[in-house]
Amino acid sequence: MEIACLDLEGVLIPEIWINFAEKTGIEALKATTRDIPDYDVLMKQRLRILDENGFGLPDIQSVISELEPMEGALGFLEWLRERFQVVILSDTFYEFGMPFMKQLGYPMLLCHGLEVNDDGKVVDYKLRQVNPKRQAVIGFHSMYYRTIAAGDSYNDTTMLAEANAGILFKAPDNVIAEFPQFPAVHSYEDLKKEFIKASNRDLSL
Ligand SMILES: [Mg+2]
Repeated sequence: MEIACLDLEGVLIPEIWINFAEKTGIEALKATTRDIPDYDVLMKQRLRILDENGFGLPDIQSVISELEPMEGALGFLEWLRERFQVVILSDTFYEFGMPFMKQLGYPMLLCHGLEVNDDGKVVDYKLRQVNPKRQAVIGFHSMYYRTIAAGDSYNDTTMLAEANAGILFKAPDNVIAEFPQFPAVHSYEDLKKEFIKASNRDLSL
């Protein structure tokens, strides 16, 4: 059997922070690692802004639960799960990702976690491990599973490289240019074709 490893944001669902910023009108939450490369500095800033604006975890989750998976994502996931064991490897937090998991039919999700106090205030975050996406693929390989991975951004590239086959999906041009070794596709139909190509089994659309 083969395991399909999927990134979450930008592959199945929209970028959570950017959409949360748009829904709430808090411009400062649109900052990403492109603006603030140090992830710890960025996350501390995000948590401070959430607190300053009076957003506790329940408020954040209710805004997130109004966001929807990307157009075609549900059908793609259903197709993929018929043919592969699917795991979602994400740099989001369980507390943010779970409202989407309900919409996606609760696939397996490996990601980070938040520390929340009794009042619902997000006080800190806990990274599951360093380089978690790549480590998960290494783990699957240690169990002799073949892996095919798809993602859209820099934080996916070590996972794509570690997997038996890696695919860029809806990646920005600079990522595609920097990683020409990975096929790059922009529609779920083309992504299915890449999974079929990468599989060592005879699969059909
Ligand atoms: Mg992504």
